[in-house]
Amino acid sequence: PTIVEVGSGKAVTKVGGGHLGMIAGPCAVESAERLDQIAGEVKKAGANILRGGAFKPRTSPYSFQGLGEEGLKILREVGDRHGMPIVTEVIDPRHVELIAEYTDMIQLGARNMQNFVLLTEVGKTHKPVLMKRGMAATVKDLLMSAEYVIANGTTDVVLCERGVKGFDNSCRNMLDVAAVPQVQQMSHLPIIVDPSHATGRPELIPSCALAGLAAGADGIHIEVHNCPEEAMSDGPQALLPEQYAELMGQLKKVAEAIGKKF
Ligand code: PEP
Ligand code: MN
Repeated sequence: PTIVEVGSGKAVTKVGGGHLGMIAGPCAVESAERLDQIAGEVKKAGANILRGGAFKPRTSPYSFQGLGEEGLKILREVGDRHGMPIVTEVIDPRHVELIAEYTDMIQLGARNMQNFVLLTEVGKTHKPVLMKRGMAATVKDLLMSAEYVIANGTTDVVLCERGVKGFDNSCRNMLDVAAVPQVQQMSHLPIIVDPSHATGRPELIPSCALAGLAAGADGIHIEVHNCPEEAMSDGPQALLPEQYAELMGQLKKVAEAIGKKF
């Protein structure tokens, strides 16, 4: 199995080969104060990579699009202050260089998983990548997209199952837990589970996170916000910091039982 190292200096997180990447943070970077509070809480709960979007892929052009470079600066400063490596999404090939200057890991989102021009540019940075499964992509499609990044230079790719389109709109998406052991049989790359975007419903997140870890996932990705009703994006699916801490206590027990650590 590939072990992906995210970050540098004192803040390095390994993902894969028994090391769990516990990614947490708000959907979007909204302000330095808010991100600092959330980072402090998730770090205390055991998160080892801080997330936050500065360029957001929104369904509506009238929704909050992210703070851009200002958001990258805030994420970098807050990550450094809390000793956490950071991950943020790139949505435009023109932003790849800028984002690579700030971040430890580049996220390729579900909506761009088959944007091959973007994948190629991101691969050239040699930065670790978090690649989310497209909402209508097969497991094979996901692996071929990872190949695009790898063929262009970046060998450190962490895959992410974040739910696929289902027929039942009671959930935002449908978590494909079987993708975890499938990927592990077909590939050496680590795969994590994102129950936040998979369900869109905070009350379902703990069960799905536990299922992901039990299925063999190399980490869990969760959106956390300290005031979800004020969040600029994905507020309804965010866990409160105290809910996240409680879940992390449960995840720790599962991790210990299967001989993994975070
Ligand atoms: C996100 O992580 O905020 C996001 C937009 O995720 P996805 O690409 O999985 O929808
Ligand atoms: Mn989100």
